[in-house]
Amino acid sequence: MRPPQQSRLIRANHEYVKRVNTQIVLRCIREHGPLSRAEIARRTELYPATVSSLVSELLEQELVVETGVGASTGGRTPVLLELSPKVHRAVGVALDAQTVEVGLVDLLGKVVHRASAAVDGGGPHGVMREVKSLVEQVIEDAGVGGERILGIGAAFPGAVDADAGVVLGSQTLPGWGRFPLRDALRLEGHAVCRVDTGANAALCAERWFGSVGDGESALLLTFDWWIGGGLMIEGRIYRGHRHAAGEFGHLVVDSNGAQCYCGSFGCLHTVASGEAVVAKWRRRRGTDRSQALLELLDAADEGDETALSLLDEAGRYAGIALAGLINALAPDKVIVGGVLPHRSATFFRRLSETAKRRAWPHAAESVEIRRSALGADAFLLGAAALVLDEWFTIPQVPAIP
Ligand SMILES: [Zn+2]
Repeated sequence: MRPPQQSRLIRANHEYVKRVNTQIVLRCIREHGPLSRAEIARRTELYPATVSSLVSELLEQELVVETGVGASTGGRTPVLLELSPKVHRAVGVALDAQTVEVGLVDLLGKVVHRASAAVDGGGPHGVMREVKSLVEQVIEDAGVGGERILGIGAAFPGAVDADAGVVLGSQTLPGWGRFPLRDALRLEGHAVCRVDTGANAALCAERWFGSVGDGESALLLTFDWWIGGGLMIEGRIYRGHRHAAGEFGHLVVDSNGAQCYCGSFGCLHTVASGEAVVAKWRRRRGTDRSQALLELLDAADEGDETALSLLDEAGRYAGIALAGLINALAPDKVIVGGVLPHRSATFFRRLSETAKRRAWPHAAESVEIRRSALGADAFLLGAAALVLDEWFTIPQVPAIP
């Protein structure tokens, strides 16, 4: 007879192995489907009986569907399986200083229902009340039962301990430090609930619905009023010690530069953020900061030389910072998001050219620098992609307690 502790350990191992195998099968169907059970077994090198039993459960959960028959290879005609993208939904919540947006997203990255509300920048409790009511609203509008909701994810504009689900701090939303966002967000009866920074969430969305391939390494930089950043190393988000990785806005690019809000001097934020560009723009009229930034971008569209040269200079500094990042990390892709690169071809072109010219040639030759194709929905899709990640990404070996 086994001692009780050992039998508990074996049971945990069985659950873990089953979870890994389920995710291997799901991922194989997602990437290569439609596939027969025999083909899944061949590709994954799992036993056919294991594949059959896992597929039965996935069919019951309606995560996969039988979609037709394949060519017979002599025996019984095989039934083909594919992902069922339209049955299940993930709830995404994108928070920022002025608005909260909630969307119901299918497995193909389509926002099928959405709702948003203005928030006054108040503390987390009032905002979370609003979030809960928006979540209820989109689920009710969509008419889906709770069992079709895979989970809920949130993209937060600030530092997050994604493992603990706790906010560490935010320049955009002050007063949220130490707030247990994941617990506050959890839906009744749904196991999956994930929170992360906006940039990490947007990177997940790029891998799910955008241009980052499975297992690739990618950097994401966003240029709005603030600068955001995230890293994906060989398919996994890299968070670093104390969840502090990805602070690309605080790379020092000007040794004699102005003081940054972080306390240092000459950070990328002081020369390439929306805030920095607006501060230098003499023509600014609007009192509202996002309004002032949009006015500057409009002026650049109309050929205003001052606006164009400010955006060009900001893009050059951003490119210098990016060259350093490319040298350090040699990513496959660099995704550039946010209002500056999306609205200003001048900013993006200068950023891209400078990075390619200044990075080490071997890494610079092959890196692909592109604007995010997900546009304004990047954070919302990213929040939903955090949930899909939990379902479809093979878990890492857990730490030994
Ligand atoms: Zn700084």
